[in-house]
Amino acid sequence: MLNRRNFLQYSTLAGSAALLPAALMQTVLAQTGALKVQTLQPNVSLVSGGACNVLVAKAANGDLLVVDGGLKAGAKELRRTIETSMGSTRFATLINTHWHPEQTGLNELLGNKSTRIFAHENTREWLSTSIKRLLEDKVYQPLPESARPNDVFYNYGDFMHGASKVEFGYLRQAHTDGDMYVYLPEANVLHAGGVLATDGWPFLDWWTGGWMGGLVDGMETLLSIANNGTLIIPATGQPITRAELQVQRDMYAKIFDSVRGMFQKANTVEQTVAAKPAKDWEAKYGSADAFITLAHWSLIPHLTPDA
Ligand SMILES: [Zn+2]
Repeated sequence: MLNRRNFLQYSTLAGSAALLPAALMQTVLAQTGALKVQTLQPNVSLVSGGACNVLVAKAANGDLLVVDGGLKAGAKELRRTIETSMGSTRFATLINTHWHPEQTGLNELLGNKSTRIFAHENTREWLSTSIKRLLEDKVYQPLPESARPNDVFYNYGDFMHGASKVEFGYLRQAHTDGDMYVYLPEANVLHAGGVLATDGWPFLDWWTGGWMGGLVDGMETLLSIANNGTLIIPATGQPITRAELQVQRDMYAKIFDSVRGMFQKANTVEQTVAAKPAKDWEAKYGSADAFITLAHWSLIPHLTPDA
């Protein structure tokens, strides 16, 4: 059972609140074990503290929309937290912003005929096959069929969640090749999925189609959707404003230009890493060596003539 005493220990969201749009500053924080529930708007909450940021919206009839689901190991706690904080057990739609285990841990628990699991077609395909990444001593097994996305899209679109519109779209090859955003225009909240991480360097999963140029393109798409009042939710880390997203996009565009330049001069990955193309930002985000390695590798299929 959820620890109610913890749940009722509300506190204001100090620190980052000063950076958020004024309309979203009246947030409260509810602590439920490791997970935190932050009310963004009436019936729209952000659950953080698990493996990824989870956005939840409740329609008037109690139907829940959940964007991303954390790891499978935390699925039951997440489900309980959502049920208690939203006052509903009606999981109508679960969205997977991409295939990673940090996003798809609720699928098995909710995978049945009554929950719609929505994702990009490539995400459904990755979740239907075994995945082995280079240098990683691990095989990601396919999800059982009932836990895989049962509703997919290719480009973009929208649907109604109760009386509110939900917009979604493909971010092409970026963090993986199945990334998507989810935008709730009424609440003015944009879930950026794996394209955005505000707590460190992102993992660029080039084994399943991610690449550095696409990461920058994905951020540009997000900038085209957001306005000055939009709260932008990254896969991990604190939510940011559009102005802060612009800073992120500019940083990644500069790093992309540097890495691409070195790649085109036939630098080895070791030379590119040693040149420290992200050094200006390492004080803030830590060593970028692993990220630069992935960024360099991700250029191979895109910039090598014969690849
Ligand atoms: Zn991911």
